[in-house]
Amino acid sequence: MQWIRLAGRRATQLWCGDLVVVGGSLGGVAAALSARRAGRRVCLLEAGPTLGTELSAAWSTGLPDRPLCQAIRDDTASRGAPADRPVDVVLGTLAVDRLLLDTGVTVLVCARATRLVRDRRGFLAGVEVAGKSGRQVVRAPCVLDATAGQRLARRALGSSARPLRAVERRGYMVGLTVPAEGASWAVPSSLGVLGGRVEAVPAAWPGEALLRVRLAAAGLSETVLLGASLHAVTAVVAWLRQHVAEFAAATLVDVSPGLTEEASAGAAALAVPPGLGLAVLPDTPDLAVRLDAAEGLGREAAAATRRLPRLDAAPRQCLRTRELAAAPEQDLTAVRLAPALARLHEPCDVVIAGYGTGGVFAALAAAERGVRAVVLDAAPVPGGIGSAGRIHSYYHGLRGGLQDRLDEAVTGGGSALAPKVRGYHPVARAEVMTQALQHPCLEVCSGHTVFGVVREGTRVTGVLTAAADGYHVFPCQVAVDATGDGDLAAAAGAPMTLGRDGDGFPQPYSYTPSLMRQGELGHHNFDAGWVDPTDTLELSRAHLEGRAQVACRGPYTPERHYCTLASIIGLRESRFARGRVVLTFDDFLEGRGFPDTVCSAYAHHDNHAMDYAEESEWSRRHVVMFGLWRTLWHGDVPYRALLPRRLDNVLLACRALSVDHDLHQLLRMQRDMQVIGEICGVAAAEAAIQGIAPAALPVEELRPLLAARGIAPRPPRRAADLPVAELLGKLAGEGDERGLAMWRLSRSAKAVDWPAFLAGTADPNARFCGAIAAALGGQAGPEVVAVLQEVLRSRQAEPVLGLKSPQRYVVAALALAEIGAPGIAEAIGPMLTLELPAPTLLLLLRALGKAGQPAGVGAIRRFLAETAQHDFPVALWGGDPAHPTAFRDAIVIRAVRSLAQLGDTSEAWRLDALVDHPMLLWRRHARRVKGGA
Ligand SMILES: Cc1cc2nc3c(=O)[nH]c(=O)nc-3n(C[C@H](O)[C@H](O)[C@H](O)COP(=O)(O)OP(=O)(O)OC[C@H]3O[C@@H](n4cnc5c(N)ncnc54)[C@H](O)[C@@H]3O)c2cc1C
Repeated sequence: MQWIRLAGRRATQLWCGDLVVVGGSLGGVAAALSARRAGRRVCLLEAGPTLGTELSAAWSTGLPDRPLCQAIRDDTASRGAPADRPVDVVLGTLAVDRLLLDTGVTVLVCARATRLVRDRRGFLAGVEVAGKSGRQVVRAPCVLDATAGQRLARRALGSSARPLRAVERRGYMVGLTVPAEGASWAVPSSLGVLGGRVEAVPAAWPGEALLRVRLAAAGLSETVLLGASLHAVTAVVAWLRQHVAEFAAATLVDVSPGLTEEASAGAAALAVPPGLGLAVLPDTPDLAVRLDAAEGLGREAAAATRRLPRLDAAPRQCLRTRELAAAPEQDLTAVRLAPALARLHEPCDVVIAGYGTGGVFAALAAAERGVRAVVLDAAPVPGGIGSAGRIHSYYHGLRGGLQDRLDEAVTGGGSALAPKVRGYHPVARAEVMTQALQHPCLEVCSGHTVFGVVREGTRVTGVLTAAADGYHVFPCQVAVDATGDGDLAAAAGAPMTLGRDGDGFPQPYSYTPSLMRQGELGHHNFDAGWVDPTDTLELSRAHLEGRAQVACRGPYTPERHYCTLASIIGLRESRFARGRVVLTFDDFLEGRGFPDTVCSAYAHHDNHAMDYAEESEWSRRHVVMFGLWRTLWHGDVPYRALLPRRLDNVLLACRALSVDHDLHQLLRMQRDMQVIGEICGVAAAEAAIQGIAPAALPVEELRPLLAARGIAPRPPRRAADLPVAELLGKLAGEGDERGLAMWRLSRSAKAVDWPAFLAGTADPNARFCGAIAAALGGQAGPEVVAVLQEVLRSRQAEPVLGLKSPQRYVVAALALAEIGAPGIAEAIGPMLTLELPAPTLLLLLRALGKAGQPAGVGAIRRFLAETAQHDFPVALWGGDPAHPTAFRDAIVIRAVRSLAQLGDTSEAWRLDALVDHPMLLWRRHARRVKGGA
């Protein structure tokens, strides 16, 4: 292995305090709590998403009799878990979160500690971490290493990594009853299980159990162990379900994201010289011993008094890198990172960042063309949202390509693991993909977070990752960004956007637990809130808040509880790259074809937003005024939408492709991402074979390769492409046809004699829908206005135009405001009451700004004064009405914006409370509005 140095660079300080505990193991948690209780400012850092990792990731539920474990047990019992059984994996995870947050420990998850940081004099000054904001520093004079195998301290002190003897991985079984002392079964040696036996122990709930599968680990990498243990668990379950009566009706719900490691007997002990400010938890399998030591170490953590040893003897040659960085609105202190050592890998043809939904297909397609590819991902299993994210069902999207073959294998694998599954089995998917990735042309590296690149001109020539053993550089000819978030393209400097134009918010994210419903394996997909997923602090907050939402859903009972939590968060939307073409929803509705079309996509405008006031004008019309939320559509995807600007050899094999926020609501489904992944894999391989950049690859050469794989676009179709008379005839109808006719008529409103149409039409539905289309099409004559005013005056509410459309009179008001109809502000003013839900109030506030009438000022100010104490609660999509989300901030900012449009800044002071909002998205939005107000 060759080493290279990453050049020093500017970065930001994530946190500053007295003690950093690295590793969210139970020992790390105990140490953090004890130090915090002793008055220290403590930060607990964890590379994965959860804390108390023995319990939350490796699912070791038999906790010793120690204060931390008792506190966890008490908390889970308070939520309904049986007190006399092992701790529940989900509730135990929530309990650890609560203990830490209640005690005031700063928690950062999905932030990988990579090395110790020293100050100018050589004393310990904290830890460098890598995450969604690239490399940052967590500053403190004391560091406690609570990682498995003391990895951080061993590297810092030049001690070799502790060799492993075995690992254990657990499977969560439902429909399996085992005695309190556990049970075991002999399994064939061909399954590769250590000792030829597997054991099961009871889980927290009756009729549920945890299967323990052990494997020999000597000399094997983390990636190999993750793959082999996943295979072993699924193979064992399939075999037991066939051969052992107790298992016949049992379901494998999930496989633990983490492994329990067993060190070799002869592993050298690590001696940490005193005075460095560095402490380590003892490396023993006895959790009670680790917890006892942690309590003491937490209290005693002492600041550095001796210099850290310098170890690296790498060549002086420095790589200049481009890396992700924190959002400026986080207001973090700037710091300078010293040059860092990185392992330099052999050059490969293609690097694929991310083995999620699109990435797996990119990797397999590239490998099938015979190029050498490296696949890098932070998550423990491949498959992304569909496996680790537990969204195990297809929703629209088009078939074709490699997915049809893999789907068959997943279906077969799933039926071997469970009697009944809603959608496909996420573990079967992970297993099928893991096996498929074991291709001789592929090198897969799990546990690698991509945070930067080496760029030469317009080419990415290397990809940087952070892993448990430090930094890595993977030189490549072509890079494929399949991170979902566009991390690679963003780090490389491609222009990116995030969120909608109105306020910069992406769609809400979900936090998805798995559950059994009436004997069927399923998942609970509910929206948890908003996050800018491209920022380390924000993503960490979102994980904790997502879990807090899960915690709200109690009390839990034997009949109604979750089994496991998704190990990646459900991000619907993140960055989009600006490609050589930016695809819009209009392109789909107008049936636009492209000279370089490579595939089609298919879905509806699946936008989970509740507040259409902040969506684009197009979206507001489409959803609110034409009632078209559910309408299915398909359209062409050009190759140029997969090529980010300013970079010649990067392809976008994920939802970060070049679309606008509106089209993204449609163009992100799993099937479509799989096809797009496959296209990128073929294009990357072909470019590498020809020695050219993917941007230079002629589409005429790509298309036959795709066609041979069963990937071909569906011919585009122009929506509601009918003569005007027919369109007018559809206004009396319902649903999609009516909505699409309204949409098309609003675009060709000039071609209609609206007074004649309205005079000759008795049907009130057709008159109303026609008047909306005419008004939005700029043809708001007196007859049109009269129809809308009548609906408004009579407060006609029903029938609504579609899902997510408000009452008809609100739609009429919005249309009248849109055209600035005289007196509309006076009419809307009295509608601003708490009788209407917050999303409708937002629409009306926006309409007042748009109408531009002075009466709007008084109406908005009165509304703000009258509702000063109100939260504006809204249940998010799939959310729990008992635990709604407050829309107050949205209301305030929208009101201030509308007032500003009306020339009134008297309420701008209300933004002062929001410009330092704890959520980045609000803070950023409030600052922008304040800057413009
Ligand atoms: C809650 C939710 C529900 C949905 N419901 C459905 C549905 O029912 N049906 C449907 O078809 N679609 C659904 N979708 C949409 C669809 O699942 C996603 O849009 C699609 O899976 C995204 O694929 P992707 O490859 O872009 O990202 P992902 O599948 O998320 O893959 C990204 C991969 O990159 C890795 N990664 C990310 N950043 C880094 C980094 N910096 N370094 C290394 N690795 C990294 C991740 O670990 C992950 O493995 C849903 C999406 C969500 C979030």
